[in-house]
Amino acid sequence: MDGHTHTELCPHGSGEATDKMVQRAIQLGMQRYCITEHAPLPPAFRNQYEGTLAGYTEASLRLDQVDDYLALANELKVKYAGQIEISVGFEVDFLPDHVAWTRDFLNTYGPQTQESILSVHFMRGRHDHFWPVDMTTDDFSAGFGQWLSTPQQVFEHYYQTVLASVQTDLGPYAPQRIGHMSLVRKYQDYFNLNEPLDANNLELVDQILALIKQQHRQLDLNLAGLYKPFCNDFYPGEQILKRAQKLGIPMIYGSDAHDIVSVGRGYHLIKKLIKG
Ligand SMILES: [Zn+2]
Ligand SMILES: [Zn+2]
Repeated sequence: MDGHTHTELCPHGSGEATDKMVQRAIQLGMQRYCITEHAPLPPAFRNQYEGTLAGYTEASLRLDQVDDYLALANELKVKYAGQIEISVGFEVDFLPDHVAWTRDFLNTYGPQTQESILSVHFMRGRHDHFWPVDMTTDDFSAGFGQWLSTPQQVFEHYYQTVLASVQTDLGPYAPQRIGHMSLVRKYQDYFNLNEPLDANNLELVDQILALIKQQHRQLDLNLAGLYKPFCNDFYPGEQILKRAQKLGIPMIYGSDAHDIVSVGRGYHLIKKLIKG
């Protein structure tokens, strides 16, 4: 299955037809396909956001696109029933000061979804504002430059945010899967952030994983990072994967495809990753 994919409505995607993405998944022999478009950001988040404008305006669907998105995804679900089982959901951003808004959003649209992902794409940085973790290297250094000489500090800020995300009650439609848990390493080969997590950060990771286990949630085994020029590794990376496996946390493959050719990319690798 492919557990993490985007659609033609994604503002930072390729715009390629979602229908063709589904056809590619069928061609690859997938039996399940999760459509998990970026849920809209809370309007008030704009006041806390700093960084390239596109990092905010193109991060997600707009609220006025949500109905179109659900219609598109459900249409494909019906069209391809019998060939592939499609689930519909959102990739939801965790934003610590907008939990009530996010819970309301999920309560409103959750009944129309089956599977969603909870991700941290923004974290608090310079000026106490929120900056995008995965937008550009420029935004990354502008937002988090003060910690870059000590990579463990960057990791700690990220994993504190991820910990808060799994400690937060997002209501009955809370996403069941935690997205690309090591996204903070997207630019690791650019900023020299490729060292392993130290004992302090591993303890944070263990707290996160213990909660994921206790809550019967899953981890996104997201291969998109392997193909990013400055990441060159899968998310969540070997250190976290091993600890998650020890706990028996389900790992769900996700391509994070925003275009046709990325659907199912690296899928054959996951058997090795999961065994190793
Ligand atoms: Zn995206
Ligand atoms: Zn994501």
